[in-house]
Amino acid sequence: MEIRKLKLSGFKSFVEPAELRIEPGLTGVVGPNGCGKSNLLEAIRWVMGENSPKSMRSGGMEDVIFAGTASRPPRDFAEVVLHAADDEGEALDVTRRIERGAGSAYRVNGNDVRAKDVALTFADAATGAHSPALVSQGKIAQVIAAKPAERRMMLEEAAGIAGLHVRRRDAESK
Ligand code: ATP
Ligand code: MG
Repeated sequence: MEIRKLKLSGFKSFVEPAELRIEPGLTGVVGPNGCGKSNLLEAIRWVMGENSPKSMRSGGMEDVIFAGTASRPPRDFAEVVLHAADDEGEALDVTRRIERGAGSAYRVNGNDVRAKDVALTFADAATGAHSPALVSQGKIAQVIAAKPAERRMMLEEAAGIAGLHVRRRDAESK
């Protein structure tokens, strides 16, 4: 899978609609402190289904919505669109939107889908929210300090087999 474009609106500090093209190969995000580098990476994780407040550095899920500043009013929704291409080159457009008081909704190529469908799609392609395809601040130190079981989970994410655990748990609970 290849991530080609990211569109953000009302997500954290990206209050005005913003569009970023992502070229093939390794992408680095540089800029002064507080300019939104980590927010960008979090937007990619979020659209892939990330729901852990800790990894989004937020208290609740609605905290990803632009909270307003002294000169700008808060927004009532946040939306992130990820344009990707699967290994066959087919377009995969994923949208996640959250509205205050209304929770999150996901769309893939224009169709409503469940959060889990999105998370599994990316996990299977080894580019999921927890995959080593996204290297955030402190990640290298985490890999070095990880316990063997945690390190195995990282390798499973990298290999694209993490979704199998979810499917097995599902099958066992039926
Ligand atoms: P550093 O170099 O220090 O790691 P960074 O470029 O990674 O900085 P981020 O952490 O991505 O910066 O961005 C931080 C900025 O985002 C802060 O100014 C913070 O106020 C703003 N921010 C985060 N969440 C929201 C929100 N919900 N509404 C408005 N602004 C937000
Ligand atoms: Mg940062």
